[in-house]
Amino acid sequence: MSIHPAVLARLKEAVGPQGFTEDPHEIAPHLVEWRSRYQGHSPLMLRPKTTPEVSRVLVICNETSTPIVPQGGNTGLVGGQIPLGGEVLLSLSRMNRIRRIDPEGLSAIAEAGVILAQLQNAADAADRYFPLSLASDGSCTSGGNLSTNAGGVSVLRYGNMRDLALGIEVVLADGTVVDLLRILRKDNTGYDLKQLFIGAEGTLGVITAAALKLFPKPAERVSALAAIPDVASAVGLLNRLQSATGGLLSAFELIPRIALEMVLAHIPQTSDPLAAPSPWYALVEAESGARFSLREIVEQALFSAIADGIASDAAVADSEAQRTALWRLRESISEAQKHEGASIKHDVAVPVAAIPEFLARGIEAVQRVVPGARPVPFGHLGDGNIHFNFSVPKGGDDTAFLARWEDVTRAVHDLVHGLGGSISAEHGVGVMKREEIVRYKSAAEIELMRALKRTLDPNNILNPGKLVEI
Ligand SMILES: Cc1cc2nc3c(=O)[nH]c(=O)nc-3n(C[C@H](O)[C@H](O)[C@H](O)COP(=O)(O)OP(=O)(O)OC[C@H]3O[C@@H](n4cnc5c(N)ncnc54)[C@H](O)[C@@H]3O)c2cc1C
Repeated sequence: MSIHPAVLARLKEAVGPQGFTEDPHEIAPHLVEWRSRYQGHSPLMLRPKTTPEVSRVLVICNETSTPIVPQGGNTGLVGGQIPLGGEVLLSLSRMNRIRRIDPEGLSAIAEAGVILAQLQNAADAADRYFPLSLASDGSCTSGGNLSTNAGGVSVLRYGNMRDLALGIEVVLADGTVVDLLRILRKDNTGYDLKQLFIGAEGTLGVITAAALKLFPKPAERVSALAAIPDVASAVGLLNRLQSATGGLLSAFELIPRIALEMVLAHIPQTSDPLAAPSPWYALVEAESGARFSLREIVEQALFSAIADGIASDAAVADSEAQRTALWRLRESISEAQKHEGASIKHDVAVPVAAIPEFLARGIEAVQRVVPGARPVPFGHLGDGNIHFNFSVPKGGDDTAFLARWEDVTRAVHDLVHGLGGSISAEHGVGVMKREEIVRYKSAAEIELMRALKRTLDPNNILNPGKLVEI
């Protein structure tokens, strides 16, 4: 599609000279996503600085039926932030002010373009803790985190963005600014409207700011890498540690040996902290607000797990540097997997107890479709969320492997659905899974989603073609 020059001129005027670029070189990095799976195009990138500017932009887009795609840090993994049809790109990156940190009220108000690491650091400086933690910390933004309902490695203890949001400020398709920026912990005055926009991937409104929960800084944190013989033992270890610590686990990440080997081979300054190789590992972390020998409790639980054969060894971090080194092993897996050729990835969730069955049947099903495909399933076992990834067979052809994407996905998603799971645990729907959700959600649920979209965005200007089609 092409957008009339007169409309482009009005949009530029709405944000002023600092607020846009038409330079293809400047726009280019915003048109391709992290895995280079989606390549978009756009004649204009708007970079508003204020909420009224966003409002003015949407008034013009709505009046002229001009489609627009909101973008935060461009770390989304399902293509939602990419203007695939030549839409105007709306980058929230200049709205990067932390409006308020309230250490006593345990809340922060951050604009949509605030980078996650910036918010974590600001909370830390106020002796507080913002627990959302993703490998994309240094680039992803509050607005993107909310719009994708981001999860990450601390969901087990603190929940995902739906749980971490107290309120939002959102601009509707017609430019109306809705101030839902409440910092209340309780508010039973009807529909919880903010939740409509959280996880909506920019299809119902543009989030311009959010009130987010902060927590006391953990006084004690214990991190350990446990070697485990099989996935059923991982589920056993999770439950044992949760019981021993009274539910203080903040992370429980599954890592297969193949993923560790990829990290050790491709990522500098990494080393295996354990003496002997093991088929599986769990990177576990427990946090408490007060010091009460949490380390002793975790160590004892790990010793008893080793005695009972559900773990074979464990390395407990002795320092912050050792903790960082353990987490580097986990956080580098996606990067390391890139060095091993093409991969087919699924971000899925099943009930935690069903994970061993899911992995056994899922690996078998995928290898029936692509014999030799190398399973690299890892991630948030504690949340039932596995990144069920496969690398191209050793010495195999990338293009031939990727050509089987649909068949592999069908086998995986059918299994996930059959086990009562979700085909998108935390990355969202975007364009990648738009047709998939129609396959697996009920007709009534899809129709309700479409009705909401039609009501809030009757001209279909907000991120058209993503998440749900009307
Ligand atoms: C290495 C790596 C690791 C990752 N690990 C995790 C993980 O553990 N857990 C997890 O959940 N995700 C993970 N992700 C995915 C990604 O980081 C998250 O989805 C993140 O929340 C996206 O934020 P963003 O600012 O980059 O949003 P973008 O990618 O820019 O946008 C994502 C979606 O939100 C919409 N959007 C963005 N800003 C706004 C706004 N202000 N208003 C309305 N809509 C908006 C976009 O249109 C798009 O649909 C990972 C990504 C990478 C590259």
